[in-house]
Amino acid sequence: MILGSDLSALGTGTAAARKLSLVVPLYNEAAGLPQLHERLVALAATLRQRYGLACEVIYVDDGSADATLSVAHGLAAPTLDVQVVSLSRNFGKEAALMAGLDHAGNGAVLFMDGDGQHPPALVEQLVQHWIVDGYDVVYTAKAHRDNESWLRRTAVRGFYVLINWGARQKIPEDAGDFRLLSPRAAAALRQLPERNRFFKGLASWIGFRQIRVDYEPEPRSHGITSFNAARLVGLSIEGLTSFSVAPLRIASLLGLLLAFVAFLFGLSILWETMVSGKSVPGYPSLVVGLMTIGGVQLIMIGIVGEYIGKILSELKARPIYFVAEHSVKRAETTSTNE
Ligand code: UDP
Ligand code: MG
Repeated sequence: MILGSDLSALGTGTAAARKLSLVVPLYNEAAGLPQLHERLVALAATLRQRYGLACEVIYVDDGSADATLSVAHGLAAPTLDVQVVSLSRNFGKEAALMAGLDHAGNGAVLFMDGDGQHPPALVEQLVQHWIVDGYDVVYTAKAHRDNESWLRRTAVRGFYVLINWGARQKIPEDAGDFRLLSPRAAAALRQLPERNRFFKGLASWIGFRQIRVDYEPEPRSHGITSFNAARLVGLSIEGLTSFSVAPLRIASLLGLLLAFVAFLFGLSILWETMVSGKSVPGYPSLVVGLMTIGGVQLIMIGIVGEYIGKILSELKARPIYFVAEHSVKRAETTSTNE
């Protein structure tokens, strides 16, 4: 029985089958979409000319409440195929990315945000790393975090220390969802069966030749981010529990540590009683001890609960998303060429 997956036949993408699918998740992005699309149309023309690359864009409408879907349907397809996949409700960005990946052709796949923060101008550089240098995963990372608060930077750092603790394949710090996957890397990502998808983690876990590209995210073209602090914390817990058992290990270590401290404390009480001969009035230390242990236990039960919740949702094996509508517009240039 073969328990692995041989993707060698796909290679990094042969010249004959050079296709690139741009996956763009959209949640209330109607205002900036036409502008983004214009940039992608120009980009596709350039890529076709320089690398003979046939492009398609897959807009995944993640249950937007505004006119995103009708705007997406109205977009023209002069240089690249346009797919519009509309999910039945808002499933979240990770699910939208997955839907895009599932609808992409068997060429390379590139993920980019629909709010203009991921500059289309950088795409050509990512494509170069793939086609010319033969990399499988070209990921981008924020060049710096100078504009973020100290608290946020520390939290981010702590998160990566924790999630990478003892991991064989480290998740690169600051890497975003803006990344390109070669055909075999995209195929690998499709094969991962889990429902709780932490995209950055999975894309790094699959391995292959990976390269980092630093860039400066552009300001949002309109509106505000849908990832506030609470949602980011949620995403971090999601990532941590689906990717690493570090929190459980910390629970065990903390338990050991507490037991050790309690043992020393017990010895010291014993010693004091024997030397001074009087019993120690211990009310405050008793209460402190009880509360510490009670608190730590509750936290640890919570952590274990997170993992049990994860097991439950994997066990239910519900689909990650539902597609309500799907439309494809073929590029005018390809239909005349082929
Ligand atoms: N997005 C999505 N579903 C959601 C939230 C966001 O598809 O539930 C999309 C959004 O339209 C954008 C991308 O994910 O294209 C990144 O979202 P946002 O800009 O709000 O996050 P940030 O850039 O701050 O990480
Ligand atoms: Mg954004």
